[in-house]
Amino acid sequence: MRILVTGAAGQLGIDLVAHCELHGDDVIGLDRAGLDVSDRSAVLGSVTTLRPDVIVNTAAWTAVDACEGDVDRAVRVNALGPRWLREAASLAGAHLVHISTDYVFDGMLDRPYHEWDEPNPQSVYGASKLAGEREVGQDACIIRTSWVCGANGNNMVKTILRLVREQPSLSFVDDQRGCPTFTADLAPMVRRLALDRRSGVHHVTNGGAVSWFEFVREIVAESGHDPAMVHPIATADLDPPRPAPRPANSVLDNAVLRLAAEPLLRHHREPLRELVAHLLA
Ligand code: NDP
Repeated sequence: MRILVTGAAGQLGIDLVAHCELHGDDVIGLDRAGLDVSDRSAVLGSVTTLRPDVIVNTAAWTAVDACEGDVDRAVRVNALGPRWLREAASLAGAHLVHISTDYVFDGMLDRPYHEWDEPNPQSVYGASKLAGEREVGQDACIIRTSWVCGANGNNMVKTILRLVREQPSLSFVDDQRGCPTFTADLAPMVRRLALDRRSGVHHVTNGGAVSWFEFVREIVAESGHDPAMVHPIATADLDPPRPAPRPANSVLDNAVLRLAAEPLLRHHREPLRELVAHLLA
């Protein structure tokens, strides 16, 4: 079983390749320099040469606010890339696994979103990712996740560990809720669903929904600082406001895994503790 991972220098890509290597898989990780997913001939060339059994597309333009200012780039990477990957996967007979996001939802629902809820993205990033979901088609496995944190790349945990040393107090929004998800747990589930050749949409997040304010308090406490230094604010009070609207509720019900009696990922506090310990070591 040969696995090709795109976006292999990203937060999830790095941990997914490492996890596959640990399990003795024949895994090939290609970063953006190794394979630009928005380049059709490069995608067709790599896939037909490497002949993977499974392709996992972790590549994306994830700069949510920057996407608002460059719709073409967002669509080229997040929607056209998946189109070329689907075409290449079909030529090579490979199974395609595509990573997507909670930002495909508008966040107005008063319960967690399950896989059959209607997407209604509010941002360019969310719209481009939804377009990508549609490009990969019914046979692909779409894994929607949220608030991704890992040892590599940029994420809230790493930002807060830096800010606690620089600032006496922090303010974070208390009216956007989601499930922080850690690549240490996400990567094994992605590998498992990929090797099972699953198709259809799967929500995969760690357990424990929190607001950004609550999550930041947890990170600050884990790092040995006083969580009282973190103060709640409303999204409407952000100054300056952020260019891209975020869903107020982006909690994903992992309904497919739950209803199929598959193991769910742990509460996020456990991998949070492990990650903070690792980053502070
Ligand atoms: P990262 O931004 O850490 O990684 C994405 C990688 O894709 C980067 O290494 C980036 O390279 C690469 N990339 C960008 N453009 C291209 C391209 N044209 N061709 C090939 N590679 C490219 O994101 P994550 O690992 O956090 O995200 C993984 C997946 O999870 C993505 O699909 C994302 O949409 C999704 N997701 C992420 C969330 C998050 O909070 N981060 C939340 C929900 C879903 P470079 O840095 O050089 O541009």
